[in-house]
Amino acid sequence: MYIGKNEFGETVSLLFRETSQMTQLRREKWYCPACKGELILKAGSKKAAHFAHKHQSDCNSFSEGETSEHLQGKKNIAKWCEEQEIPYQIEAYLPELQQRPDLLVDGVIAIEFQCSDLSIDRLEERTKKYLEYGYQVFWIVGEKFILKEKLSSLQLGFIYFSPSLGFYLWHLDVWKKQLFLYYHIETVHFGRKLYFLKKSWTIKESLRSIFNFPLQKKLCSSREFNVLKASLQYRLWLRKGLYHRDTELIKAQRRLYNQGCSIQLLPYAFYIPVTFPFYLKGSEILWKQLFWQVLEQSINAGRSYSAVIADFVRKAYQNGLTTQKMPNIDPNFLLIFFVREYVDLLLSYNWLNYKNQKFENSMAVNWKVNAEKYDRNFKSLFEGLKQLSTTPIKNMIK
Ligand SMILES: [Zn+2]
Repeated sequence: MYIGKNEFGETVSLLFRETSQMTQLRREKWYCPACKGELILKAGSKKAAHFAHKHQSDCNSFSEGETSEHLQGKKNIAKWCEEQEIPYQIEAYLPELQQRPDLLVDGVIAIEFQCSDLSIDRLEERTKKYLEYGYQVFWIVGEKFILKEKLSSLQLGFIYFSPSLGFYLWHLDVWKKQLFLYYHIETVHFGRKLYFLKKSWTIKESLRSIFNFPLQKKLCSSREFNVLKASLQYRLWLRKGLYHRDTELIKAQRRLYNQGCSIQLLPYAFYIPVTFPFYLKGSEILWKQLFWQVLEQSINAGRSYSAVIADFVRKAYQNGLTTQKMPNIDPNFLLIFFVREYVDLLLSYNWLNYKNQKFENSMAVNWKVNAEKYDRNFKSLFEGLKQLSTTPIKNMIK
């Protein structure tokens, strides 16, 4: 931490101090502004000069063992603000929330530079508090949480969404002094493979416009793969999962049995390679099944798109289906996003029709089909299949 209180109760910051000042500062006694515990001033050659609790403490505001990456990151952002004359406070204590963001920018933007582990519950709690009290929160991750092959539950917690960039995540590289945006984050191959695009800024560019970037700029991209191959691989993957007694798949299988179906013998629409909904909990088969159930009733009742979505959201909660913990995104939105993406795909394959504000099942088949009928549908649908992007459809370059 950069701030400490001296014997006279004055708050002093070590940020941007000359090394020559340290000898003098070191002679004074320092106390933690949060827990009042005694602090020591550390000014070695490896890390930026900072304070640390003298004794092992369970101080809520400042965690111990602050890494050089974390110290450097706070400094980078502070410098960025100074150069652009953006008002900021380092480690500002917000008494009504009892939270201390790494930086508070413009009085309302809390910046949390996260370099070390944190429980997802704690992350959710902190985020909710910021939002509840009218702060905007930017979680920026350090090296440890850079996207690689799989998304951890904690990484999910740092993800945001914008209609123009899809799912995105901020990362600060403190040594290169660059801010990165990972966007269009999607998982394919049944959640085993991660795709994303990356954009970066140096700390010379306008911080304000960078923070607004996901809301304003539309970046298009498309990624293509073979639909036929992906669908067959998906079916194979389901079979393997059942063989290895995958808990989620067994649960889905059980529920389908009660409906008189089997995971391996569902209509083609279930194997359609929609991007894998990493933001939902449980097997995606269960989510698709719920959608078809809702749709079946809606088609008969002639309900509109928005009524179908509202019904889907309500039924998901009733059935105990939940989203992953992603506190920076409204959970209802995640459910709606899934339906929209799935419906877009079904429409693009002419599996569904949406005419005069009503859904029609254009294949005129029940989603609960028998095996013989299923095979026929499966084959007929492969005819005329083309390469299709799985990127959120609206962002595709056509
Ligand atoms: Zn303390």
